[in-house]
Amino acid sequence: MKYLDEYRDEKIAHALAQEIRERVTHPWVLMEICGGQTHTIMRYGIDELLPREVELVHGPGCPVCVTPLETIDKALELAALPDLTLVSYGDMLRVPGSSSDLFHAKANGSDVRVVYSPLEALKLARANPARKIVFLAIGFETTAPANAMAVWQARREGLNNFSVLASHVLVPPAMRLLLGSPDNRVQGFIAPGHVCTVMGYRQYEEMVNEFRVPIVVGGFEPVDLLEAILMLVRQLEEGRAVMENQYVRSVTRDGNLPAQQIVETVFEVCDQKWRGIGTIPQSGLRIRPEFSAHDAEKIFGMSEIKVEEPTECISAQVLKGLKKPPDCPAFANGCTPESPLGAPMVSAEGACAAYYRYRRHKVLQERVCNG
Ligand code: SF4
Repeated sequence: MKYLDEYRDEKIAHALAQEIRERVTHPWVLMEICGGQTHTIMRYGIDELLPREVELVHGPGCPVCVTPLETIDKALELAALPDLTLVSYGDMLRVPGSSSDLFHAKANGSDVRVVYSPLEALKLARANPARKIVFLAIGFETTAPANAMAVWQARREGLNNFSVLASHVLVPPAMRLLLGSPDNRVQGFIAPGHVCTVMGYRQYEEMVNEFRVPIVVGGFEPVDLLEAILMLVRQLEEGRAVMENQYVRSVTRDGNLPAQQIVETVFEVCDQKWRGIGTIPQSGLRIRPEFSAHDAEKIFGMSEIKVEEPTECISAQVLKGLKKPPDCPAFANGCTPESPLGAPMVSAEGACAAYYRYRRHKVLQERVCNG
Protein backbone atom coordinates (compact mmCIF):
# COMPACT_ATOMS: atom_id res chain seq x y z
CA MET A 1 0.00 0.00 0.00
CA LYS A 2 1.48 3.34 -1.08
CA TYR A 3 2.63 5.60 1.79
CA LEU A 4 2.54 2.64 4.15
CA ASP A 5 4.63 -0.31 2.95
CA GLU A 6 7.71 1.79 2.19
CA TYR A 7 7.54 3.30 5.70
CA ARG A 8 7.47 -0.20 7.24
CA ASP A 9 10.28 -1.59 5.10
CA GLU A 10 12.59 -3.67 7.29
CA LYS A 11 15.70 -3.11 5.15
CA ILE A 12 15.29 0.68 5.18
CA ALA A 13 14.63 0.60 8.93
CA HIS A 14 17.81 -1.41 9.61
CA ALA A 15 19.87 0.85 7.33
CA LEU A 16 18.65 3.92 9.24
CA ALA A 17 19.39 2.25 12.59
CA GLN A 18 22.89 1.40 11.33
CA GLU A 19 23.49 5.02 10.30
CA ILE A 20 22.34 6.21 13.74
CA ARG A 21 24.82 3.78 15.35
CA GLU A 22 27.62 5.10 13.13
CA ARG A 23 26.83 8.76 13.88
CA VAL A 24 26.48 8.58 17.66
CA THR A 25 29.43 9.47 19.87
CA HIS A 26 27.60 10.98 22.89
CA PRO A 27 24.57 10.02 25.00
CA TRP A 28 21.41 11.85 23.90
CA VAL A 29 17.89 11.94 25.38
CA LEU A 30 15.16 12.39 22.77
CA MET A 31 11.43 12.74 23.37
CA GLU A 32 8.66 11.74 21.00
CA ILE A 33 5.74 13.98 21.85
CA CYS A 34 2.84 11.98 20.49
CA GLY A 35 1.31 8.84 22.04
CA GLY A 36 0.80 7.40 18.54
CA GLN A 37 4.56 7.62 18.02
CA THR A 38 5.17 5.93 21.40
CA HIS A 39 3.01 3.02 20.32
CA THR A 40 4.92 2.59 17.05
CA ILE A 41 8.21 2.63 18.98
CA MET A 42 7.01 -0.08 21.36
CA ARG A 43 5.21 -2.14 18.73
CA TYR A 44 8.18 -2.34 16.35
CA GLY A 45 10.89 -2.35 19.04
CA ILE A 46 12.50 0.78 17.61
CA ASP A 47 14.14 1.67 20.94
CA GLU A 48 15.80 -1.77 20.90
CA LEU A 49 17.34 -1.07 17.47
CA LEU A 50 19.06 2.07 18.74
CA PRO A 51 22.54 2.27 20.25
CA ARG A 52 22.51 2.56 24.04
CA GLU A 53 23.64 6.20 23.78
CA VAL A 54 20.24 7.20 22.34
CA GLU A 55 17.51 7.13 24.97
CA LEU A 56 13.88 7.71 24.00
CA VAL A 57 11.52 9.17 26.60
CA HIS A 58 7.82 9.52 26.04
CA GLY A 59 6.03 12.84 26.03
CA PRO A 60 2.63 14.16 27.07
CA GLY A 61 0.98 13.83 23.64
CA CYS A 62 -1.81 11.44 24.54
CA PRO A 63 -5.02 13.50 24.69
CA VAL A 64 -6.90 11.09 26.93
CA CYS A 65 -3.95 10.89 29.35
CA VAL A 66 -3.76 14.64 29.96
CA THR A 67 -7.51 15.29 30.23
CA PRO A 68 -7.93 16.37 33.86
CA LEU A 69 -9.85 14.24 36.34
CA GLU A 70 -12.09 17.27 36.86
CA THR A 71 -13.32 17.08 33.25
CA ILE A 72 -14.30 13.43 33.68
CA ASP A 73 -16.09 14.33 36.93
CA LYS A 74 -17.95 17.14 35.14
CA ALA A 75 -18.96 14.73 32.37
CA LEU A 76 -20.22 12.29 35.01
CA GLU A 77 -22.20 15.08 36.65
CA LEU A 78 -23.82 15.93 33.30
CA ALA A 79 -24.48 12.28 32.41
CA ALA A 80 -26.52 11.93 35.61
CA LEU A 81 -28.98 14.64 34.51
CA PRO A 82 -32.38 13.58 33.14
CA ASP A 83 -33.15 14.39 29.48
CA LEU A 84 -29.41 14.63 28.73
CA THR A 85 -27.31 12.44 26.45
CA LEU A 86 -23.56 12.58 26.95
CA VAL A 87 -21.61 11.73 23.82
CA SER A 88 -17.90 11.05 23.39
CA TYR A 89 -15.21 8.92 21.80
CA GLY A 90 -15.03 5.30 23.00
CA ASP A 91 -11.72 5.55 24.86
CA MET A 92 -13.08 8.33 27.09
CA LEU A 93 -15.63 5.96 28.64
CA ARG A 94 -13.06 3.99 30.63
CA VAL A 95 -10.98 6.93 31.85
CA PRO A 96 -11.31 6.96 35.62
CA GLY A 97 -12.65 10.12 37.23
CA SER A 98 -12.18 10.63 40.96
CA SER A 99 -14.81 8.03 41.88
CA SER A 100 -16.19 6.40 38.73
CA ASP A 101 -16.09 6.47 34.93
CA LEU A 102 -18.57 7.01 32.10
CA PHE A 103 -18.69 3.28 31.35
CA HIS A 104 -20.11 2.59 34.82
CA ALA A 105 -22.43 5.59 34.52
CA LYS A 106 -23.78 4.06 31.30
CA ALA A 107 -24.14 0.63 32.95
CA ASN A 108 -26.07 2.31 35.75
CA GLY A 109 -28.61 3.85 33.38
CA SER A 110 -27.15 7.18 32.24
CA ASP A 111 -27.56 7.92 28.54
CA VAL A 112 -23.90 7.83 27.45
CA ARG A 113 -23.17 7.16 23.79
CA VAL A 114 -20.04 6.62 21.67
CA VAL A 115 -19.47 8.45 18.40
CA TYR A 116 -16.60 8.60 15.91
CA SER A 117 -16.88 12.34 15.23
CA PRO A 118 -18.54 15.43 16.69
CA LEU A 119 -20.63 15.69 13.54
CA GLU A 120 -22.35 12.44 14.59
CA ALA A 121 -23.20 14.16 17.87
CA LEU A 122 -24.77 16.98 15.85
CA LYS A 123 -26.89 14.42 14.01
CA LEU A 124 -28.09 13.07 17.36
CA ALA A 125 -29.07 16.60 18.41
CA ARG A 126 -31.07 17.10 15.20
CA ALA A 127 -32.84 13.74 15.64
CA ASN A 128 -33.63 14.26 19.34
CA PRO A 129 -34.81 17.86 19.81
CA ALA A 130 -36.32 17.06 23.22
CA ARG A 131 -32.97 15.88 24.64
CA LYS A 132 -29.91 17.92 25.51
CA ILE A 133 -26.91 16.50 23.66
CA VAL A 134 -23.50 17.26 25.20
CA PHE A 135 -20.34 16.28 23.33
CA LEU A 136 -17.25 15.74 25.49
CA ALA A 137 -14.60 17.32 23.24
CA ILE A 138 -11.03 16.58 24.21
CA GLY A 139 -7.74 16.52 22.37
CA PHE A 140 -4.87 18.49 20.91
CA GLU A 141 -4.84 20.84 17.92
CA THR A 142 -5.62 17.78 15.76
CA THR A 143 -9.24 17.37 16.93
CA ALA A 144 -9.95 21.05 17.59
CA PRO A 145 -11.03 21.93 13.99
CA ALA A 146 -13.78 19.26 13.84
CA ASN A 147 -14.99 20.20 17.32
CA ALA A 148 -14.98 23.89 16.39
CA MET A 149 -16.88 23.09 13.21
CA ALA A 150 -19.58 21.25 15.23
CA VAL A 151 -20.09 24.31 17.48
CA TRP A 152 -20.12 26.66 14.49
CA GLN A 153 -22.62 24.46 12.63
CA ALA A 154 -24.88 24.17 15.72
CA ARG A 155 -25.05 27.97 15.96
CA ARG A 156 -25.73 28.28 12.22
CA GLU A 157 -28.62 25.78 12.45
CA GLY A 158 -29.92 27.13 15.78
CA LEU A 159 -29.48 23.67 17.35
CA ASN A 160 -29.90 24.90 20.90
CA ASN A 161 -30.01 21.41 22.41
CA PHE A 162 -26.37 20.81 21.35
CA SER A 163 -23.41 21.85 23.46
CA VAL A 164 -19.77 20.93 23.98
CA LEU A 165 -17.84 20.24 27.18
CA ALA A 166 -14.43 21.27 25.89
CA SER A 167 -11.05 20.25 27.29
CA HIS A 168 -8.54 21.08 24.57
CA VAL A 169 -4.78 21.28 25.01
CA LEU A 170 -2.00 22.79 22.91
CA VAL A 171 1.40 21.13 22.39
CA PRO A 172 3.90 24.06 22.24
CA PRO A 173 3.19 25.44 25.76
CA ALA A 174 3.74 21.96 27.23
CA MET A 175 7.07 21.63 25.39
CA ARG A 176 8.09 25.06 26.68
CA LEU A 177 7.23 23.97 30.23
CA LEU A 178 9.40 20.85 29.86
CA LEU A 179 12.30 22.81 28.38
CA GLY A 180 12.14 25.47 31.09
CA SER A 181 11.99 22.94 33.92
CA PRO A 182 15.17 22.54 36.04
CA ASP A 183 14.84 18.73 35.86
CA ASN A 184 14.47 18.62 32.07
CA ARG A 185 16.49 15.80 30.44
CA VAL A 186 15.27 16.20 26.86
CA GLN A 187 17.86 17.34 24.29
CA GLY A 188 15.82 16.91 21.10
CA PHE A 189 12.16 16.51 20.21
CA ILE A 190 10.22 14.53 17.62
CA ALA A 191 7.29 16.91 17.13
CA PRO A 192 3.82 15.43 16.58
CA GLY A 193 3.09 14.94 12.88
CA HIS A 194 -0.71 15.07 13.14
CA VAL A 195 -0.74 18.28 15.19
CA CYS A 196 1.71 19.87 12.72
CA THR A 197 -0.45 18.76 9.77
CA VAL A 198 -3.07 21.16 11.17
CA MET A 199 -0.88 23.85 12.71
CA GLY A 200 2.29 23.75 10.61
CA TYR A 201 5.61 24.20 12.43
CA ARG A 202 6.22 27.94 12.70
CA GLN A 203 5.60 27.86 16.49
CA TYR A 204 8.28 25.19 16.85
CA GLU A 205 10.81 27.33 14.98
CA GLU A 206 10.44 29.95 17.72
CA MET A 207 11.16 27.31 20.36
CA VAL A 208 14.25 26.05 18.52
CA ASN A 209 15.68 29.57 18.54
CA GLU A 210 14.70 30.33 22.14
CA PHE A 211 15.94 27.09 23.73
CA ARG A 212 18.60 26.04 21.20
CA VAL A 213 16.99 22.60 21.00
CA PRO A 214 16.63 20.61 17.76
CA ILE A 215 13.06 19.71 16.77
CA VAL A 216 12.12 17.39 13.91
CA VAL A 217 8.49 16.87 12.87
CA GLY A 218 8.03 13.11 12.66
CA GLY A 219 5.49 10.72 11.24
CA PHE A 220 4.08 7.56 12.76
CA GLU A 221 5.57 4.60 10.89
CA PRO A 222 8.84 2.88 11.90
CA VAL A 223 10.86 4.39 9.02
CA ASP A 224 9.43 7.85 9.81
CA LEU A 225 10.56 7.62 13.41
CA LEU A 226 14.01 6.19 12.67
CA GLU A 227 14.59 8.90 10.07
CA ALA A 228 13.47 11.60 12.55
CA ILE A 229 15.81 10.15 15.19
CA LEU A 230 18.68 10.15 12.68
CA MET A 231 17.96 13.79 11.79
CA LEU A 232 18.05 14.73 15.50
CA VAL A 233 21.23 12.75 16.16
CA ARG A 234 22.95 14.40 13.18
CA GLN A 235 22.08 17.86 14.52
CA LEU A 236 23.13 17.06 18.08
CA GLU A 237 26.42 15.49 17.03
CA GLU A 238 27.18 18.50 14.81
CA GLY A 239 26.20 21.01 17.54
CA ARG A 240 23.30 22.37 15.49
CA ALA A 241 19.74 23.17 16.62
CA VAL A 242 17.32 23.78 13.78
CA MET A 243 13.73 22.96 12.87
CA GLU A 244 13.42 20.11 10.35
CA ASN A 245 10.47 18.30 8.84
CA GLN A 246 10.70 14.54 8.28
CA TYR A 247 6.92 14.17 7.70
CA VAL A 248 6.92 16.09 4.41
CA ARG A 249 4.17 13.95 2.89
CA SER A 250 1.69 15.50 5.32
CA VAL A 251 3.15 18.60 7.01
CA THR A 252 3.89 22.04 5.59
CA ARG A 253 5.35 25.05 7.37
CA ASP A 254 1.99 26.86 7.51
CA GLY A 255 -0.28 23.86 8.06
CA ASN A 256 -3.97 23.76 7.21
CA LEU A 257 -5.06 27.41 7.18
CA PRO A 258 -8.87 26.85 6.89
CA ALA A 259 -8.70 24.43 9.85
CA GLN A 260 -6.75 27.01 11.88
CA GLN A 261 -9.32 29.65 10.92
CA ILE A 262 -12.34 27.70 12.23
CA VAL A 263 -10.47 26.97 15.49
CA GLU A 264 -9.66 30.68 15.85
CA THR A 265 -13.30 31.62 15.18
CA VAL A 266 -14.80 29.33 17.81
CA PHE A 267 -12.10 28.95 20.47
CA GLU A 268 -9.84 31.28 22.44
CA VAL A 269 -6.61 30.39 24.20
CA CYS A 270 -6.82 29.91 28.00
CA ASP A 271 -4.85 28.50 30.91
CA GLN A 272 -5.44 24.77 31.08
CA LYS A 273 -4.95 22.02 33.63
CA TRP A 274 -3.14 18.94 32.31
CA ARG A 275 -3.69 15.70 34.17
CA GLY A 276 -0.54 14.72 36.03
CA ILE A 277 1.25 17.97 35.16
CA GLY A 278 -0.91 20.78 36.55
CA THR A 279 -2.01 24.09 35.07
CA ILE A 280 0.06 25.35 32.13
CA PRO A 281 -0.53 29.01 31.19
CA GLN A 282 -2.09 29.61 27.77
CA SER A 283 -2.06 25.90 26.94
CA GLY A 284 -5.76 25.24 26.30
CA LEU A 285 -8.72 26.28 24.21
CA ARG A 286 -12.12 27.37 25.51
CA ILE A 287 -15.26 28.31 23.61
CA ARG A 288 -15.50 32.04 22.87
CA PRO A 289 -18.35 33.99 24.57
CA GLU A 290 -20.05 34.48 21.15
CA PHE A 291 -20.69 30.73 21.11
CA SER A 292 -21.68 30.37 24.79
CA ALA A 293 -25.12 29.02 23.81
CA HIS A 294 -23.21 25.84 22.90
CA ASP A 295 -20.78 25.84 25.82
CA ALA A 296 -21.83 23.15 28.33
CA GLU A 297 -19.78 24.79 31.12
CA LYS A 298 -21.86 27.97 30.77
CA ILE A 299 -25.24 26.35 30.06
CA PHE A 300 -25.12 24.00 33.05
CA GLY A 301 -23.28 26.45 35.34
CA MET A 302 -20.55 23.93 36.11
CA SER A 303 -18.50 24.87 39.13
CA GLU A 304 -14.79 24.20 39.58
CA ILE A 305 -14.15 20.76 40.99
CA LYS A 306 -10.88 19.97 42.81
CA VAL A 307 -9.78 16.35 42.97
CA GLU A 308 -6.57 14.49 43.80
CA GLU A 309 -4.77 11.92 41.64
CA PRO A 310 -4.25 8.42 43.15
CA THR A 311 -0.99 8.72 45.12
CA GLU A 312 0.51 5.50 43.71
CA CYS A 313 0.27 6.76 40.09
CA ILE A 314 3.50 8.38 38.83
CA SER A 315 1.98 9.48 35.51
CA ALA A 316 3.18 13.07 36.12
CA GLN A 317 6.79 11.90 35.89
CA VAL A 318 6.01 9.57 32.98
CA LEU A 319 4.36 12.38 30.98
CA LYS A 320 7.35 14.66 31.58
CA GLY A 321 9.81 11.99 30.41
CA LEU A 322 11.43 11.75 33.86
CA LYS A 323 10.39 8.12 34.40
CA LYS A 324 9.18 5.24 32.25
CA PRO A 325 6.10 3.11 32.93
CA PRO A 326 8.08 0.08 34.23
CA ASP A 327 9.55 2.39 36.92
CA CYS A 328 6.06 2.61 38.44
CA PRO A 329 5.58 -0.01 41.18
CA ALA A 330 1.89 -0.26 40.22
CA PHE A 331 2.68 -1.13 36.58
CA ALA A 332 1.08 -4.56 35.89
CA ASN A 333 0.81 -4.85 39.65
CA GLY A 334 -2.51 -3.23 40.47
CA CYS A 335 -2.63 -1.06 37.37
CA THR A 336 -3.63 -2.83 34.14
CA PRO A 337 -5.69 -1.82 31.09
CA GLU A 338 -8.64 -3.72 32.62
CA SER A 339 -8.27 -1.88 35.92
CA PRO A 340 -6.29 1.33 35.27
CA LEU A 341 -5.16 3.59 38.10
CA GLY A 342 -4.13 6.42 35.78
CA ALA A 343 -5.05 7.61 32.30
CA PRO A 344 -1.77 6.51 30.57
CA MET A 345 -2.92 2.91 31.15
CA VAL A 346 -6.42 3.53 29.74
CA SER A 347 -5.89 5.15 26.42
CA ALA A 348 -4.79 3.32 23.30
CA GLU A 349 -2.17 6.10 22.98
CA GLY A 350 -1.00 6.01 26.61
CA ALA A 351 2.66 5.17 27.32
CA CYS A 352 1.76 2.76 30.16
CA ALA A 353 -0.71 0.90 27.91
CA ALA A 354 1.97 0.67 25.19
CA TYR A 355 4.51 -0.87 27.59
CA TYR A 356 1.82 -3.18 28.99
CA ARG A 357 0.84 -4.40 25.54
CA TYR A 358 4.31 -4.87 24.06
CA ARG A 359 6.79 -5.17 26.97
CA ARG A 360 4.87 -6.55 29.94
CA HIS A 361 6.56 -10.00 29.90
CA LYS A 362 10.03 -8.49 29.70
CA VAL A 363 9.31 -6.05 32.56
CA LEU A 364 7.88 -8.82 34.75
CA GLN A 365 10.87 -11.10 33.96
CA GLU A 366 13.29 -8.32 34.94
CA ARG A 367 11.39 -7.76 38.19
CA VAL A 368 11.66 -11.48 39.05
CA CYS A 369 15.41 -11.49 38.22
CA ASN A 370 16.00 -8.39 40.36
CA GLY A 371 14.16 -10.04 43.27
S1 SF4 B 1 1.38 2.19 35.44
FE1 SF4 B 1 -0.63 2.93 36.11
S2 SF4 B 1 -0.25 3.79 38.14
FE2 SF4 B 1 1.74 3.63 37.11
S3 SF4 B 1 2.05 5.60 36.09
FE3 SF4 B 1 1.07 4.27 34.58
S4 SF4 B 1 -1.12 4.69 34.81
FE4 SF4 B 1 -0.12 5.50 36.66
